[in-house]
Amino acid sequence: MRCFFFDRCPLAVEGTCDREDPPIRRLGEGHAIECHRSEREFMH
Ligand code: SF4
Repeated sequence: MRCFFFDRCPLAVEGTCDREDPPIRRLGEGHAIECHRSEREFMH
């Protein structure tokens, strides 16, 4: 399933974000993100 943010994400990757479930990554302390981009790319 496509990422929930695909339509408004400036970093959306066509062909990936609109087709595949983003992987869940835990960032510790109860935080988690679901994104195909790396944490570094996403924080820009
Ligand atoms: S997976 Fe990440 S980069 Fe892709 S649309 Fe969703 S939030 Fe944006």
